[in-house]
Amino acid sequence: MTLRTLDSLGDLAGKRVVVRCDLNVPLKNGHITDDGRIRASLGTLNALINAGAKLVVISHLGRPEGEPDAKYSLAPVAQRMSELLGKPVVFAKDTVGHAAKDAVASLENGDVALLENLRFNAPETSKHAHERREFAEKLAAFGDAFVSDGFGVVHRKQASVYELAEVLPSAAGLLIEAELGVLERLTLTPEKPYAVVLGGSKVSDKLSVIEALLPRVDRLLIGGGMLFTFLYAQGHKVGASLLEKDQVDTVLGYLEKAAELGVEIVLPTDVVVAEKFGGDAKHVVAPADQIEDTEFGASGLGLDIGPDTAKNFASIIATSKTVFWNGPMGVFELAAFAEGTRAVAEALTKVDGLAVVGGGDSAAAVRELGFRDEQFGHISTGGGASLEFLEGKRLPGLEVLGWQA
Ligand code: ADP
Ligand code: MG
Repeated sequence: MTLRTLDSLGDLAGKRVVVRCDLNVPLKNGHITDDGRIRASLGTLNALINAGAKLVVISHLGRPEGEPDAKYSLAPVAQRMSELLGKPVVFAKDTVGHAAKDAVASLENGDVALLENLRFNAPETSKHAHERREFAEKLAAFGDAFVSDGFGVVHRKQASVYELAEVLPSAAGLLIEAELGVLERLTLTPEKPYAVVLGGSKVSDKLSVIEALLPRVDRLLIGGGMLFTFLYAQGHKVGASLLEKDQVDTVLGYLEKAAELGVEIVLPTDVVVAEKFGGDAKHVVAPADQIEDTEFGASGLGLDIGPDTAKNFASIIATSKTVFWNGPMGVFELAAFAEGTRAVAEALTKVDGLAVVGGGDSAAAVRELGFRDEQFGHISTGGGASLEFLEGKRLPGLEVLGWQA
């Protein structure tokens, strides 16, 4: 790896270190429903605390419109972070204003401050480099060094991800290092058989990753909302299920390319079809080529892979040596349509090799379904970032830390 890592920053005792984390956790009525991203940040934070640094932690949360918005405050995150670290976390009610300055000035060696949401400041995500740079310089005034550890945002050219790493002496944190280690194993030297399982809502989100992965994998399993565009491309009717007609030609191209490369694209043989979208919707299992032949006719809605498919996917996964999974198999948020996702998650826990879960909703799904992080080889904190890495794209937040593919 060409990445600059923590040791490149030298002795950090007594130094103020700005740490960019991805603390973008899901909130419901001000409560954190999944603290996975906070827990993923602890390794780096503890390493810096133990080194005697003064930590100034920064992050975004959600998509506020460049100004303060109470529902996206990081205050609940500061509290949870304090519980998990077992020490106080000073929370600053602004990002680069008086509160932030006071919080930073109050730090002793090994202390931690968390500044308010970066995205309460429009320049953080500005299109104009000079605006981002100016904001980065304000953040830089709080530190002697910068540690970039928000893996979920490394594909974004934003002030706290890119410009800040140029302004201060900078290095990647332990989370970014770990995420890259796993992604490299998936791209450079994957043990075979290698299966990739894709789901989620849209094909169009995942097209380039399909294209990039085809030459490397043995099997590509398709579930989730995108499966209907594949079925439709093969000439089947899909009722009122999610369908991206404008992607049909592309999908046909993939099916052809897969055949040429000897890659098996495994499509569902049965689907759970619902009368409407909702937790209490009537639903039946139908063969994948007869979705419109249920009692719901053409208004039937495919919301999960069926039990036969789930069994088949599970057995392919459990016998693979390398598995990468991105995207739920169905609308797992509704219990009636979570079984396909559960079966896939369960199978991943049985892989004798490397099993990686990527994607925000997929990670949330496995935790919501009661699985523990330790049951998987790796749960990536960055959906978009890991997909872009697998696609072979250049990620600005990594390049600025010395990374070269
Ligand atoms: P990730 O964040 O893991 O990359 P995506 O964001 O691509 O995953 O997709 C997650 C969403 O896909 C979930 O909210 C889920 O409800 C939805 N989804 C899965 N299957 C279907 C389906 N058959 N119809 C509609 N939405 C679906
Ligand atoms: Mg998502």
